[in-house]
Amino acid sequence: TISMAVIDKMGHIAVGTSTNGATFKIPGRVGDGPIAGSSSYADNEVGACGATGDGDIMMRFLPCYQVVESMRLGMEPELAAKDAILRIARKYPNFVGAIFAVNKHGVHAGACHGWTFQYSVRSPEMDDVEVFTVLP
Ligand code: ASP
Repeated sequence: TISMAVIDKMGHIAVGTSTNGATFKIPGRVGDGPIAGSSSYADNEVGACGATGDGDIMMRFLPCYQVVESMRLGMEPELAAKDAILRIARKYPNFVGAIFAVNKHGVHAGACHGWTFQYSVRSPEMDDVEVFTVLP
């Protein structure tokens, strides 16, 4: 799965997710990728979120919508991301998944459950892409 958020110099925020889906998926499975709020969500006024992992479980929680709404209410990206992952883990302790959150100022964070998650960031003031590792 590739999930990517972009903030342009005008402050427009976009996010999208592409995936080959779950291993051994049944024919016709839709998955979480095209579900707005599940594997991605963005609002210019707040920020964006992208997700990867057990889509059939994660889509029940709309974790990316949750993250953006938490940030709207004042949560920092790190807390918003951790909170969204914990909401899932409380009901599905064995789920595997991760999300990244970025607010409209470019402050970003990741949170994960069941695996170690890496995401990369590039902004105009950086010389190169930086990879961030998030431990469960
Ligand atoms: N979320 C994807 C799905 O369930 C899989 C993935 O992120 O690797 O379709």
